[in-house]
Amino acid sequence: MSGKPKLAMYWAASCGGCEISLVNINEKILDVDANFDFMFCPCLLDTKKKDIEALPDKGIAITLFNGAVRTEENEEMAHLLRKKSQTLIAFGACAKGGSIPALSNLHSKENHFKSSYIDAPTADNPGRVTPQRETQVKEGTLHLPEFFDTVKTLAQTVDVDYFIPGCPPESHQIWNVVELVIKGGPLPPKGSVIGAGCSTVCDECERTKDDKKLSRFYRSYEIVPDQEKCLLEQGLICMGVATRDGCGALCPQVNTPCTGCYGPPEGASDQGAKMVAALGSIVDIGDVKGLSDADIDARIDAILVSVPDYAGTFYKYSLAESILKGIGKR
Ligand code: SF4
Repeated sequence: MSGKPKLAMYWAASCGGCEISLVNINEKILDVDANFDFMFCPCLLDTKKKDIEALPDKGIAITLFNGAVRTEENEEMAHLLRKKSQTLIAFGACAKGGSIPALSNLHSKENHFKSSYIDAPTADNPGRVTPQRETQVKEGTLHLPEFFDTVKTLAQTVDVDYFIPGCPPESHQIWNVVELVIKGGPLPPKGSVIGAGCSTVCDECERTKDDKKLSRFYRSYEIVPDQEKCLLEQGLICMGVATRDGCGALCPQVNTPCTGCYGPPEGASDQGAKMVAALGSIVDIGDVKGLSDADIDARIDAILVSVPDYAGTFYKYSLAESILKGIGKR
């Protein structure tokens, strides 16, 4: 048994990109191995749940928990890892804000099952069977964890010490955090967002910024943007104004709008609302003198028609932690 502090990583409702980002710290993974006993990571290691249960409480120094809480199993593991960890970190956009899994909060569980298992063009399901908690087979009873009606963030499930944002978090930011722990801190106050900045992506974006006034938006495939100018000023919805910095403005650097994966900047509680407020101040509907309210609404609608998916655009990474949460389905 190693005397090194234990490091764990758990994968809940997410895609696996967070594990890739950890591996992407390249040869520094050897420093992680030199300083930690990396003992739990279902994606990479065969440690079992019973091995975690057998540990003393707080027996794990750090757990990086990635993924949102979608199922009963995710929730159970969140409670178990909270109990067994000295420091529990919500790692990545899904654990922090719900991210893409939480866009499903706009619909009910019944609708998800119907569209996936009954209405999907590839489904061959004449019995209209959907996942059941228990299924009897000749060998015994098979159990599935409950699929919750609403996706939650990790902090909506258990007490969280720190948050590392990103989809996935940038490897150099992960290393900064690991290095801080290896050197013994000092760690920031509990509840802090770490491995990121306190401003917005715009502040670290090197594109030239001018007065923004927009009379229409474009989707990425509709224009080839200028390489130097702010993408938002060219009509592409770039979430940089409403997104925490720390990634180095990677997407704008390659002529692609920021989609907001680092979540709201410091001090902003709702990323979508911040972005909508920013757009409200730059949309130009022309001279409204003498126009009726209905005419003004029509002009605004004509601009907004080029934004095809409000939730997926403004809340792609943060719906579960936003003030809307799952309000759509109600
Ligand atoms: Fe850069 Fe996007 Fe901000 Fe413009 S809106 S400055 S492109 S991050």
